[in-house]
Formats: sequence, structure tokens, C-alpha cells
Amino acid sequence: MSEETAASAAQVSPAGPLRLAEPPGPARDLAAMRLALAEAVLAGEAGDVPIGAVVIAADGTVLGRGHNIREAAADPTGHAEIVALRAAAATTGAWRLTGATLVVTLEPCTMCAGALVLARVARLVYGAIDEKAGAVGSLWDVVRDRRLNHRPEVISGTAAQDCAALLDAFFATRRPPRTPR
Ligand SMILES: [Zn+2]
Repeated sequence: MSEETAASAAQVSPAGPLRLAEPPGPARDLAAMRLALAEAVLAGEAGDVPIGAVVIAADGTVLGRGHNIREAAADPTGHAEIVALRAAAATTGAWRLTGATLVVTLEPCTMCAGALVLARVARLVYGAIDEKAGAVGSLWDVVRDRRLNHRPEVISGTAAQDCAALLDAFFATRRPPRTPR
């Protein structure tokens, strides 16, 4: 991610939390994804798979941020979404994140898809598709299962190339090159 893509119209007021200035919709989703990408970079720098997430309130306030800490915390549940959802719940003092949007760089797994439904987030925005383990359209579609009584709106593909490029770059340094046939 370049310096300029990391910038957004985010504003920090001295008296309050970070609040995105963009109106609800694609512009705000993209600004939030830039924050999630910045979180993903932190994960990668710490040796974890670079995945980041943020939770945004309906008014644009950033309620929580998180990145993958599975290795750093030796925690199998230390996915970016879980960390961000917990941070948001701590900020609001409530487990029910009514009206909130979860923005994450990679399609959530089954655990995280379940968690965001349990948190009652209104919207899910994700970047890259996870064809191997995705639970929001790829292998399963947990959040839009009609048997559940809460089904968040889903927007996919936001800054997908940037999100995927981070992952590709991370794994390129870790996997031995494939032997040519
Ligand atoms: Zn997950």
C-alpha cells in the first residue's frame, strides 16, 4: 500500500474518537478499508498474516480496530475481525453493535462470520475473496443464511486488489518457489 492510499478524509478531533468524514456509502467504505489495510500492515510486520479490520458506527465513528494476532498472541481465535469486534464492544459497552459496519480486508472465515452475526452488525464490507476458507460466499455463506434471524448487508470487493496484494507479498516471502515442471 502506498502512502497516499493510506491517507483518507479521516479526522481526529482533540476531544473525541476518530470519525470518518465521508458520507455513508462507497466513499466511507473505502476510507474505512484504508484503515483496515493499515491494520493489516501491522499484522504483517509482526509476522502474522496481514489481515486487518475496523468497526464503524452509523455516524462514521471508528469504534474498534484490529489485526490478525494469531501468532503474536498464540491465539487460534485472534483473527482481525474478532479483535476489532471486541474493541468496538469495549468502546460502546455493549455486545450488540447495532447499526455498525465491519470492514475487513479478507472475506471472513466461519468463526468470524458467526461472530459478526452474533454482534448484530448491520453491514459487512470485505476486500479480497478467500477461495480456500471464505464463509461469506466462497465455501459457505454464513451471514446470508436465511435460517438465521439476523442477516447483515454484504459489500465485497472494496479495494480488493490492495487487500490481495498485501497477502500475496506476505506469502511470496514465506513460501519456497514452486519447482518448474
Ligand atoms: Zn476469521
